[in-house]
Amino acid sequence: MNRILVTGGAGFLGSHLCERLLRDGHDVLCVDNFFTGSKRNVAHLHGSPFFEVMRHDVTFPLYVEVDRIFNLACPASPVHYQFDPVQTTKTSVHGAINMLGLAKRVKARILQASTSEVYGDPEVHPQPEGYWGKVNPVGIRSCYDEGKRCAETLFFDYYRQHQLDIKVVRIFNTYGPRMHPNDGRVVSNFIVQALRGEDITIYGDGSQTRSFCYVDDLIEAKVRMMETETGFTGPVNIGNPVEFTMLELAELVLKQVGGKSKLVYRPLPSDDPRQRQPDISLAKEKLGGWEPKVALEDGLRETIAYFRKLLAEGNPA
Ligand code: NAD
Ligand code: UDP
Ligand code: UDP
Repeated sequence: MNRILVTGGAGFLGSHLCERLLRDGHDVLCVDNFFTGSKRNVAHLHGSPFFEVMRHDVTFPLYVEVDRIFNLACPASPVHYQFDPVQTTKTSVHGAINMLGLAKRVKARILQASTSEVYGDPEVHPQPEGYWGKVNPVGIRSCYDEGKRCAETLFFDYYRQHQLDIKVVRIFNTYGPRMHPNDGRVVSNFIVQALRGEDITIYGDGSQTRSFCYVDDLIEAKVRMMETETGFTGPVNIGNPVEFTMLELAELVLKQVGGKSKLVYRPLPSDDPRQRQPDISLAKEKLGGWEPKVALEDGLRETIAYFRKLLAEGNPA
C-alpha cells in the first residue's frame, strides 16, 4: 500500500484516479480547492477508511507525508482556465514548484498531468513527444499552454538538478462521466445540448479534428506510467489516436440521444488547433502494450447516461 497524493482529485480525471487507486488498495489523499472540481465527484469514496479530502490551493505550500504524487490540479477547459488566467498560470507554475518541493523533501515519486496543448497548433501530425510545438506565448490560451510547458520544464530541472523521480504524461482530449456539464468542452456541450433538445453549436465549419480518449483508458495509462522503472521520465503521450471531425462527433451524439436538435455554426475561437492526434508508439512500448480499448460509440453511451441522470436530478453543476 502506498500513500498517494492526488492534487485536483475532486475533478473529472482526479476523481476517477482516486477511485482506481483506492480499488488497488492504496491510501489516497485528495487535495483540491474545488474551483472546477466538486465534493459530489468524490462523495461515493468516503466509505473507504483510506480516503481523505483536503481543501487546499496548490499555489500555497503543502506539508504532508506521501510516497507518490499525481499532480492534476489545474482547470482544464478554456472556459475555466480563461476565467482567471493569472491564477491558471500560478496553479501550473507555483503548483508544480510546491509539489516538486514536497516530492524532494519526502523523496516521493511525482507524476505531472501535462497536456497535448504543449504542442499548440501543431505543424507535425500526429504529434510525437519529440515535437516541440507551436504555441502562441501571448494569446488567450497561453496561460494554460505556457503554464503547462513551464511546469514540464520545472519537472525536468528538478530531475536533473535534484535527481527527483519524475514522470510526465501529455494527456490528449479525454471524456467520460463527471466531466463538468458547463465547461464548454465539445463532448459535454454536444451531449448536454442534445439532451436538452437545444441546437448543437459547431465552432467554425466543424472540419477540425480531435481524438477522444475514454477516461478509463486514460487512468489505466496513468497508473501504469507511475509504476514504470526509475529513470524513465517521459514525456509520454496518452490518448486515443482515432481522429474525428467535430461534425462526425455531433452526428454520433445525435444518433445516440435522438431528439430534434439542429446544427448551428458559430465562430471558431482564436488559436483553436485545426487537428490533433497523439502518436502513442512510446506509450505502447513503455506502458506494457497499453492502448485505448473503449470505442467512441461505447464511451459516449456511458457519458450520455451520466449526463441524462445529472440533468434529470436537476443538477447541472
Ligand atoms: P478538472 O477541471 O475537472 O479538474 C481539475 C481539478 O483541479 C479540479 O478539481 C479543480 O478544482 C482543481 N484545481 C484547480 N486549481 C487548483 C488549485 N490552485 N489548487 C488545488 N486544486 C485546484 O479537469 P480534468 O479534466 O480532470 O483535468 C485534470 C488534469 O488533467 C489537469 O491538470 C488538466 O490540465 C489535465 N488534462 C486534462 C485533459 C482532459 O481532456 N480532460 C487533457 C489534457 C490535460
Ligand atoms: N514545499 C512544500 N512542501 C514541502 C516542501 C516544500 O510545499 O514539503 C514548497 C515550498 O513552498 C518551497 C517549494 O516547495 O518554496 C520548493 O521547494 P524547494 O525545496 O525546491 O525550494 P526552496 O524551499 O529552497 O525554495
Ligand atoms: N467545439 C465546438 N463546439 C462546442 C465546443 C467546442 O465545435 O460547443 C470545438 C472547438 O472549437 C474545438 C473542438 O471542438 O475545435 C474541441 O474543443 P474542446 O474545448 O473540447 O477541446 P480543445 O480545443 O481544448 O481540444
